[in-house]
Amino acid sequence: MPHSLPLPKAASPDSSATLAASDALEPSMPSVLFVDQSGQLGGAEFALLELAGSCVARSEVVLLAEGPFRVRLEALGARVEVLSDAHVSGVVRQASVLNCLRVVPGILRQVRAIAARARAFDVLFLNTQKALVLGALGKPLHRRPVIWYQHDILTREHFGRVQLSVVKWLVRVAVDQVIANSHASARSLAALTGIDVETVPVVYNGIDASTFNLTDGSDIAALRRRLGLPERAWLAGLFGRLAPWKGQHVALDALTRLPDAHLVLVGAPLFGEDAYAQRLREQAAKSGIADRVHFAGFQDDVPAWMKAMDVILHTSTEPEPFGRVIVEGMAAARPVIAAAAGGVIEIVRHGENGWLVKPGDATALADAVDALRADPALARRLAQQAQTDARTEFSVDRYVRRMTQAIEKAAR
Ligand code: UDP
Repeated sequence: MPHSLPLPKAASPDSSATLAASDALEPSMPSVLFVDQSGQLGGAEFALLELAGSCVARSEVVLLAEGPFRVRLEALGARVEVLSDAHVSGVVRQASVLNCLRVVPGILRQVRAIAARARAFDVLFLNTQKALVLGALGKPLHRRPVIWYQHDILTREHFGRVQLSVVKWLVRVAVDQVIANSHASARSLAALTGIDVETVPVVYNGIDASTFNLTDGSDIAALRRRLGLPERAWLAGLFGRLAPWKGQHVALDALTRLPDAHLVLVGAPLFGEDAYAQRLREQAAKSGIADRVHFAGFQDDVPAWMKAMDVILHTSTEPEPFGRVIVEGMAAARPVIAAAAGGVIEIVRHGENGWLVKPGDATALADAVDALRADPALARRLAQQAQTDARTEFSVDRYVRRMTQAIEKAAR
């Protein structure tokens, strides 16, 4: 039997497949087993944190790896079980057929373990691609409705041929409802699988604006002192894990054209991209800008770090599926310059609530920084509109409500 739930409020029509208004009147929410492959805190995990944290009494989270994500979930009162398998964890995004065959026994063990847990719940909610594979393969064993929250743009730029084929097949035969994190992600799914894009609800991540009120950004010198940043420099902040497609090297390149600006890189190589992190340091040294580049590592207090910046950069060289860091920069009331591709153009309207540049173009990025620096009134206007948009269009409340409706619908 589903556990009881406070009555959800009315739906917000931010999707191509808007859920029926009657869904909002459903008096109870099904119990949910969430599955996520990562122990680290990436964008997909922050999104799950808010959702799982909103229904701890009737859910459990299975993680496929240990890490700080578990600690954060448990701090919210979530029940967490870690089912890690060293062999399966070793399968990478560009997996070969041979590589996949080697890990079959480990995969079967995890499929059975997840299916055994899922039988105790009404719905199985899979939050990442490896979770999709392991959870959906077990459908004949658990026979529960399967939801996949798709956080990726499913193209060959991001994923191997084998992985895309597996996703395509599983979505067709074993997933009851895909929910995409942007229209760009939904379109890539439709192109891969041939399913009608109109049947894929889009639920944007929600960003908790209240956490941005905890830091007073009015005394920026004091804030920078506290964070160990130069008090008087003009600071551009780039937030996100260090990874080649996140394009930190493009920002370094742009910095060579911005003689007195500083760049703060907030984030760490979460998924084995240590060689790239090292290359970034070498690039900074070789370009003679090392004294103006600050490697801050992974930071928990992103709102404070964002408020310490003059501008927030987003530099992904491949289309970003959503880009939480962009909405966070907006919530921090900072002007955001973002790479115009993927889900980003669903968030940023050029010249209204932010500034868009061509992905991978360091000259365009430097020019954009110069343009906003030369016109503080424009930068302020963009930042104000951005903050309003972040609060209204990307609230956690709206995100959780729409997810709840999608989960209820899948359970019926
Ligand atoms: N983040 C963080 N600390 C850091 C760097 C990033 O907490 O040092 C968070 C960031 O605030 C955002 C998330 O990691 O919420 C990254 O999400 P995004 O959608 O931008 O990228 P993804 O990881 O999904 O590719």
